[in-house]
Amino acid sequence: MSIQQIIEYLKKSKRLLLASHMRPDGDAIGALISLGIALGEYKKTVRLYNEGPIPAVYQFLPSLHLIKNTVGDITEFDTAIILDCSDLHRIGEAATEVSKIPVIINVDHHMTNNRFGNFQFVDPDASSTAEMVYRLITQMEIPINTGIAYSIYTGIMADTGSFRFANTTPEAFEISHKMVQAGADPHKVAQHVYETTSLNRIKLLHMLYESIELSPNGKMSIMTLTQNMLNATGSKLDDVNGLINYAKQIENVKLAVLLYERRRSLCIKHGSDFHVSLRSDDGVNVAAIATSFGGGGHQNAAGFDIHSKLPELKRTLFHFSKNL
Ligand code: AMP
Ligand code: MN
Ligand code: MN
Repeated sequence: MSIQQIIEYLKKSKRLLLASHMRPDGDAIGALISLGIALGEYKKTVRLYNEGPIPAVYQFLPSLHLIKNTVGDITEFDTAIILDCSDLHRIGEAATEVSKIPVIINVDHHMTNNRFGNFQFVDPDASSTAEMVYRLITQMEIPINTGIAYSIYTGIMADTGSFRFANTTPEAFEISHKMVQAGADPHKVAQHVYETTSLNRIKLLHMLYESIELSPNGKMSIMTLTQNMLNATGSKLDDVNGLINYAKQIENVKLAVLLYERRRSLCIKHGSDFHVSLRSDDGVNVAAIATSFGGGGHQNAAGFDIHSKLPELKRTLFHFSKNL
């Protein structure tokens, strides 16, 4: 599907719902806001939807207030644009309602994207969905204002791990350069996203480091974040993004895992709901592992959700260390 066909269609559309994945990261938020502002400037009626929660570190973004956590009256929309989602269900509980919108446009960069929707603009080589939104906006000749610049810059910065990960391409730098010229202040973004933390969170980090376990060959690490740790430190965690990198930085580790206990059953015997984050080096395809558990992602960053007991889950995952 060419980007040109999508733009031709967008010109005709009138009322759009824009949505990105639940428990959003910087890219899901940046892509959503930037495209929302741009289409608003293009005189479209837009509603921005995200199930949330929006991490506190992104609250500084201009126009964040435009993001609603309800879709409103679904019959009002002629078009939905789904951003940074490998599957429509990634937007959360509203997916069934949203699937009733007559035309769905899928804009994403996950290699595991299942090509949902009537139009697909999927580019696994893009650093971020924010980068793809930049291409859409510039081809539509919509001027980049400060709000768009901040959102696109933040999306690219977040998904490239501040220009450190393997998806840090010349295009990622080029577009970021343009966004800084258009008014995004990199220092201000970094201050908000990385330099502000609570004492409770630091205490939680301490417990997280303590939780790290290595496989016998030292090539795999598992870090565990439980509800007990959150309670003990009085932390409310809306953003686990980045924490897994500490498990990944350990020398010789090729595969790092973060187990995040999202919800415990009242009785420990019944296990818990976990989100499992996976990070790897070039040679290890974590998207394939995540897909085998019903999740998805990229070659070096992927995730899935599972209900399990903690020791069982660790045992299952440590099996993967044997192939490293
Ligand atoms: P995370 O480990 O949550 O930071 O996610 C890493 C990457 O995997 C991101 O690109 C996510 O969009 C993707 N991902 C995480 N969880 C899932 C899931 N349950 N289903 C599909 N993709 C996921
Ligand atoms: Mn994302
Ligand atoms: Mn992304």
